[in-house]
Amino acid sequence: MSAPESVVHVAFLPSAGMGHLNPCLRIAALFLRHGCKVTLITPKPTVSTAESNLISRFCSSFTHQVTQIDLNLTTVDPTTVNTNDPFWLQYETIRRSVHLVAPILSSLSTPLTAFIYDVFLISPLLPITQKLSCPRYIYFTSASRMLSFFAHLSVLTASDPTSQPHPSSFIRDVVKIPGIASPIPRSSLPPPLLQPNSLFESMFMEDSGKLAKLDGVFINSFEELEGEALAALNQGKVVKGLPPVYGVGPIMACEFENEEQGQRGCMGSILEWLDGKSEGSVVYVSLGSRTETRREQIKDMALGLIESGYSFLWVVKLKVVDKEEEEGLEDVLGSELMNKVKEKGVVVKEFVDQMGILGHPSVGGFVSHGGWNSVIESVWEGVPILTWPQGGDQKITSEAVRINGVGIWPQEWGWGSEHVVKWKEIADRIKEMMGNESLRVKAEEMKKAARNAAGVGGSCEVIVKKLIDEWKKNVQAT
Ligand code: UDP
Repeated sequence: MSAPESVVHVAFLPSAGMGHLNPCLRIAALFLRHGCKVTLITPKPTVSTAESNLISRFCSSFTHQVTQIDLNLTTVDPTTVNTNDPFWLQYETIRRSVHLVAPILSSLSTPLTAFIYDVFLISPLLPITQKLSCPRYIYFTSASRMLSFFAHLSVLTASDPTSQPHPSSFIRDVVKIPGIASPIPRSSLPPPLLQPNSLFESMFMEDSGKLAKLDGVFINSFEELEGEALAALNQGKVVKGLPPVYGVGPIMACEFENEEQGQRGCMGSILEWLDGKSEGSVVYVSLGSRTETRREQIKDMALGLIESGYSFLWVVKLKVVDKEEEEGLEDVLGSELMNKVKEKGVVVKEFVDQMGILGHPSVGGFVSHGGWNSVIESVWEGVPILTWPQGGDQKITSEAVRINGVGIWPQEWGWGSEHVVKWKEIADRIKEMMGNESLRVKAEEMKKAARNAAGVGGSCEVIVKKLIDEWKKNVQAT
């Protein structure tokens, strides 16, 4: 049976964490706006409450166009998984549960036109999606620079003569990627990639060479921001035989992400406080949805923010997962410092509406871990960034930020967990970010480019329309 001409039906399967769920739902919303029907397969239970809340809001916003189906995860004995991180445990659990996806796909009443799933599911889903008669895509949750590295890893692996190659042994000082002018230093690579037999290493090594078997890769980036890497990927310079990489960015926040009035928690008072500040005068600090701030760092962070002289809005995460009980910030800072902090800033521990904050005119700079969604959100609002990588791909995304001139990255700070960055350095760098006029001009230029790319007739719309047309033609031909 072929789909009726008008029904383009796209299934989505995200993995764990807001950094993976947000782009998935935003891409899904993109296709919904173009009249497609969406099936959202949601791994359950989610790791964080923020994820389950967002899924509910998405589904209730598109009741007629979206069908949501639970993927009830197989129970995995955590002692069989080489990680302490709840999100990595979930990635592995989803990977081990993908056999449950086949019956879900075959039970769909409307034939599928395309299947788009998370980057961390490439290898396990291949045998399942090979049996589908529709194209399959992944969405990549980081920068095109990171995708170039990920794709090129298969070439590096092939050059290692040992039967069990490990990046820690075959990657030397820098990785030179064809088509990309600035090489990636070994010190910028995700640390677990250099740990033999870590989950991260196994997944990257297993999946890199399989990119070629997909029909395409969606990425939250665009020509003006990462033109060099996107071109290198699409012209076969990085690796020959890669499928098209669709720079559909900036894929932006949607209506469904907004909490209803009355359920906005601390956001009401945050926005009210921001309303009372002058334009561009507030520093927003958030090191992502998954990074617990080290207790040893918190005092210097507080002192650095106070010393900077700027007002600040500081989101402190004291636990990796938002479902766990937390101690109070005052217990960590002590009451004297806590009172000083409150004189200049607002400190919250809750999950906030980051887009609402970045879009507020009072916010003039963002101290960020460099998570790619956060970077793109900041670019969208023209807010300069000071990146402080905490782990994973965040040094490579910080390189992308620095190369494009939309932010600064004090490399000497190292990884967040490496050593305590002293308050004076933090204050100096915040002053540099907030006072740097050329940074502000560049961020403003990139904001304009971002808005053009996402606007009517922009690159995102062109790509999506073209794809939908191709899909429709393919369906008619079958
Ligand atoms: N986010 C948010 N509120 C928070 C923390 C994070 O809305 O309090 C969102 C943020 O806007 C982004 C995503 O969660 O869309 C985090 O993704 P990112 O790639 O920036 O970093 P990660 O948290 O995955 O490391």
